[in-house]
Amino acid sequence: MKIPKLAVIIPCFNEEMCIESTVRKLLEVFNYLIGKNKITYDSYIYLVDDGSTDSTWNIIEKMHSRNQLIKGLKFIRNYGNQKALIAGLESVNTIGCDCAVSIDADLQQDEWAIEKFIDKYMEGYDIVSGIRNDRKTDSFFKRFTAVLFYKTMNILGAKIPMNHSDYRLVSKRALCVMEEYHEKALFLRGFFHEVGLKTAYVNFDVKPRMAGESKFNFMSLMALALNGITSFSIVPLRFIAVLGFFMALFGFAAGVEAVIEKIFYNNSPNGMATTIILLCVFGGTQLFCLGIIGEYIGQVYREVKARPRYIKDIELK
Ligand code: UDP
Ligand code: MG
Repeated sequence: MKIPKLAVIIPCFNEEMCIESTVRKLLEVFNYLIGKNKITYDSYIYLVDDGSTDSTWNIIEKMHSRNQLIKGLKFIRNYGNQKALIAGLESVNTIGCDCAVSIDADLQQDEWAIEKFIDKYMEGYDIVSGIRNDRKTDSFFKRFTAVLFYKTMNILGAKIPMNHSDYRLVSKRALCVMEEYHEKALFLRGFFHEVGLKTAYVNFDVKPRMAGESKFNFMSLMALALNGITSFSIVPLRFIAVLGFFMALFGFAAGVEAVIEKIFYNNSPNGMATTIILLCVFGGTQLFCLGIIGEYIGQVYREVKARPRYIKDIELK
């Protein structure tokens, strides 16, 4: 196999404190890999500014003017990390590369693991996924919700490995396959895992954030998780149907029992408390189920409108 041209994609949202040193460190990795004949000298870095309100874009422009191998794209507003990653993957496929690696702007992932990614790629893998060695750097809340999410996803049929991350290498072939998927709410972790291309795993260490704060809050994590579930599984909808069936069965049996009591024993229990409890349980369950159905309708609604995933403002190629 010929030496690959590598593109490294970095989503950035208000990362003025990180990106310069991140790019510097990645260029060190590039030089090392070029020296070992593992990537071509025209490999490049592609920064996607996800609608930052600080000086992130100015820094990207400055770096680009000094070194053309640092390229960038600016969104007109914040679309979220998944959209920034998708935009990066689509753009580097258009610009040209043999494989692409996505990594966070705060460089929490060990950048030297890229060498192992490339080695796996040379062995013929189309996707090399980074797996975190641990979650020590995450807050208790994030660790807890992450475990909950991966367990739920596995129950629902999308068998995503635990501690999966968006730190991964994908080949040109995988990028072309991705272009065939026109759904707007593509959930990358699920997609690349499920698509069926030859996949390898590489473990890496997680470092604390270099500077600034995490750009994810409770609502954005929740949105990511719900999107992951509704775009990858219809098991919750089936679950509702099964639940409804058993509840109806139970209601029917209770009805028969009441009639028998009345006819044969002439005793109709007054059961006020039972009625209220049943009312609350069934009412609550129904609302919960409606909520789940609503999530799917929302997903369908967004897909049907088929709005663009993102709108580009400026691109530096
Ligand atoms: N990010 C983004 N758009 C957003 C939120 C985050 O592009 O709306 C980027 C962010 O700049 C970083 C990556 O996604 O490069 C991961 O974010 P962060 O490090 O804040 O997440 P954490 O490590 O806390 O999960
Ligand atoms: Mg981070």
